[in-house]
Amino acid sequence: MKRRMTVTVKFNVNDKGSPAGKLADAELHFSGGPLDGLKLVGFALWERRTGGRNVTFPARQYSVNGERRSFALLRPAADASSQDKLRDLILDSYKEFETEVEATCADCERSYGPGARCRCES
Ligand SMILES: [Zn+2]
Repeated sequence: MKRRMTVTVKFNVNDKGSPAGKLADAELHFSGGPLDGLKLVGFALWERRTGGRNVTFPARQYSVNGERRSFALLRPAADASSQDKLRDLILDSYKEFETEVEATCADCERSYGPGARCRCES
């Protein structure tokens, strides 16, 4: 068994357009180390209405007195900023992924990202 662990981010594009603002689901695939051959699912990438992107982490949904709440399953052990590195990794990987799967519109020759449609399409 390789002792060094590597993590790859995989995306499943949300091409249904629902829920609104969701760009893709994301998974972490591990190789090497004790998590070899496993993947952690439940991440999602969102486009904010105000611009910019956000990543949500795997969470368990539960309700208290009819109110829906969620409990993040991958949490900082101590330092609250520990999630930032992973969030950045997922956002950067998605940027690369977008350029890899970018398509070019046959009508206007502009390129657009995964799951998207060219805006010139009526
Ligand atoms: Zn077009």
